[in-house]
Amino acid sequence: MGLLKELRPILRGFMINKEGDIMSKEDDIVSTEEKTVRLLDDNLKRMDGRKLDELGDIRIEAGALGRADGSCYLEWRGNKVYAAVYGPREVHPRHLQDPTRGILRCRYNMAAFSVGDRKRPGPDRRSVELSKVMGEAIGSVVFTRQFPRTSVDVFVEVVQADAGTRCAGLTAASVALADAGIPMRGLIASCAAGKIEGHIALDLRNEEDNFGDADLPVAIMPRTDEILLLQMDGHLTEEEFFQALDMAMKACHEIEQIEKQALLKKYKEALGGEE
Ligand code: ADP
Repeated sequence: MGLLKELRPILRGFMINKEGDIMSKEDDIVSTEEKTVRLLDDNLKRMDGRKLDELGDIRIEAGALGRADGSCYLEWRGNKVYAAVYGPREVHPRHLQDPTRGILRCRYNMAAFSVGDRKRPGPDRRSVELSKVMGEAIGSVVFTRQFPRTSVDVFVEVVQADAGTRCAGLTAASVALADAGIPMRGLIASCAAGKIEGHIALDLRNEEDNFGDADLPVAIMPRTDEILLLQMDGHLTEEEFFQALDMAMKACHEIEQIEKQALLKKYKEALGGEE
């Protein structure tokens, strides 16, 4: 398929099996575990009452933190995430300065109390990976050449997690960057789609992520539909992959509207206007 060929460069973490299905390289080869957890009822409604293609509730507050140059607090289903942006500011240590452009640094962190079982505090392999992929997604929309020798630092702190935190974090980071006045080609919106009990579903909860068949986090710049992040856990056929991608991208357009509303609300209030 032509589109698959075009996507091949960004499908680096994936492989295609003999049947032509797209799999993440980290897939279990065979899962013999019995799946006893029910994720869908007889009417294909999910356990939280959502339809398969229904996005969870999202609430975004721009400028939630007083000390940062730009910030955001975001609630998305069971996820609660803060994003704080500092900069552009002088880079320390100075040898890291780039005279041609600013550098963008992103740190994703999940609080010890953010999950059911206490998570060991501090960076781990997962948070290092997420900081990297989120930083690359953000770096590709920010006009870094406008502020050489400086850095923009983005901190994403997950205080409550319910799957989809990289998407929630990227969405919050985008609002915080806009709030800080960082010049960008467009906002970033991010959402995952996946597969549960054989059906493609949008915005998986933790249980659906754990007991489902696949999860496909996507981030785009809705203004151009450019894909900024695309990862996959699990196993999807080529048709399912494109169905999930399409579903996630449509949701990103909805999310962009919520981001814009949050930014407008803050700045209308700041100007003393009506909401
Ligand atoms: P994302 O949060 O972007 O979906 P993952 O798929 O790695 O990223 O994680 C899915 C969910 O699993 C997280 O949102 C969180 O609820 C849970 N989780 C991740 N890491 C841990 C951990 N160390 N301990 C407990 N739960 C975790």
